[in-house]
Amino acid sequence: MTAAGFAISDEDADWAAHIFKAVAAMSPDSAGVSRPALSATETKVLDFLDTQAAEAGLETWRDAGQNSVYAMPGQRDAPRYVLTGSHVDSVPQGGNYDGLAGVVASMMCLRAALRQGLSFPLPVHAIAMRAEESAWFGPCYIASKVLTGSLAEDEATARHKGDGRSLLDHLADVGVAAEPLRAKTPLADLSRIASYLELHIEQGPLLAERNLPAAAVSGIRGNLRFRDIVVSGEAGHSGAVPRAYRRDPVMAMADLLNRLDESWSTIVQTGGDLVVTAGMLGTDPASHALSRIPDKVSFSLDIRSQDLQTLTGMRDLLETEMDDIARRRKVSFATGPAITTAPALMAPEIIAGLKDAMSALGMDPMAMPSGGGHDAAVFANAGVPSGMVFVRNRNGSHNPDEAMEIDDLVAGARIMLQYLTTPRQ
Ligand SMILES: [Zn+2]
Repeated sequence: MTAAGFAISDEDADWAAHIFKAVAAMSPDSAGVSRPALSATETKVLDFLDTQAAEAGLETWRDAGQNSVYAMPGQRDAPRYVLTGSHVDSVPQGGNYDGLAGVVASMMCLRAALRQGLSFPLPVHAIAMRAEESAWFGPCYIASKVLTGSLAEDEATARHKGDGRSLLDHLADVGVAAEPLRAKTPLADLSRIASYLELHIEQGPLLAERNLPAAAVSGIRGNLRFRDIVVSGEAGHSGAVPRAYRRDPVMAMADLLNRLDESWSTIVQTGGDLVVTAGMLGTDPASHALSRIPDKVSFSLDIRSQDLQTLTGMRDLLETEMDDIARRRKVSFATGPAITTAPALMAPEIIAGLKDAMSALGMDPMAMPSGGGHDAAVFANAGVPSGMVFVRNRNGSHNPDEAMEIDDLVAGARIMLQYLTTPRQ
């Protein structure tokens, strides 16, 4: 209960549990759930959520992007509103809560507010979006990009991994016209969206480790990625070539990764935000052998930070270290193209508002970075002040074992309701 006596009730929690169960039953797979982006299953889930919202007394409609939207009766045409929600699609054999948790939490807020006669200082529209996951077409955050007019041309023509038809064709199937998308016209009137708020399950272990049910998100990490860095040296006999004569690319790669790891440690110890991963690496299986110094090794590098300066700094550091190692070890590095995504900071006033809400509820007011990308990053980069709430979740996400407790979702929804009902200028 909040000081004012407003709450998400046990009955709201049962209602949420019932929705999760029913939606999981609509999207079965051999393990976990599969709700492909822009599929008939996705539409069926939206139809079901519409029924639940209508039964709760909410107004329901589809927006120009064919996402479902819910509001208190009479607030559909509000000149300005807070948009809150997440996505309903999932990766193949994914978990039931990635995305859906944020949609259900937003619906719970509206339902609880309606029942208790609460009014929001700004009307709230809860949105259930389509097509966030990149697993089906390649591009991610499709619905939010459609709404903000930021779907790139090569994304619009990306092919579905199953039937090979384009994203535009699939959007047309569900009733989204292609013309405005080609012209990059936002399908939402962005001047009406005062802010965007998204609850999502945490995809890392931090909240479980700190024993906290929920936290505010400070920002969404951007990234600097190289798919295939090739280090070239010289092949030789492992027993015959002394150290001084070697040009060993694997030792050079290990040296580089070790130096990056040391800098990473320093940056984190001094309060910076950074994660570094080399997820794919190997020598050529056609020529490598136990007793052969390899002539080449290739590896991927995925560097992420909330802070653009840290990413730029890491890029400079990478070049300096590669030059030094190449000279010392007589090897060469070829990085190939860098793929970069800018970080998205959450709006400071929303982070502060969410922390105030947590304090008012007697919770630890914590903010943490998001390692994964979310629709909130698209809204933030389109100029809509955005915020996020993370809810504790065990076993990561994008797998059938993700585990969120309804009580933790209720804690997250209470933070949202407290925030949304607090007057601010
Ligand atoms: Zn998600």
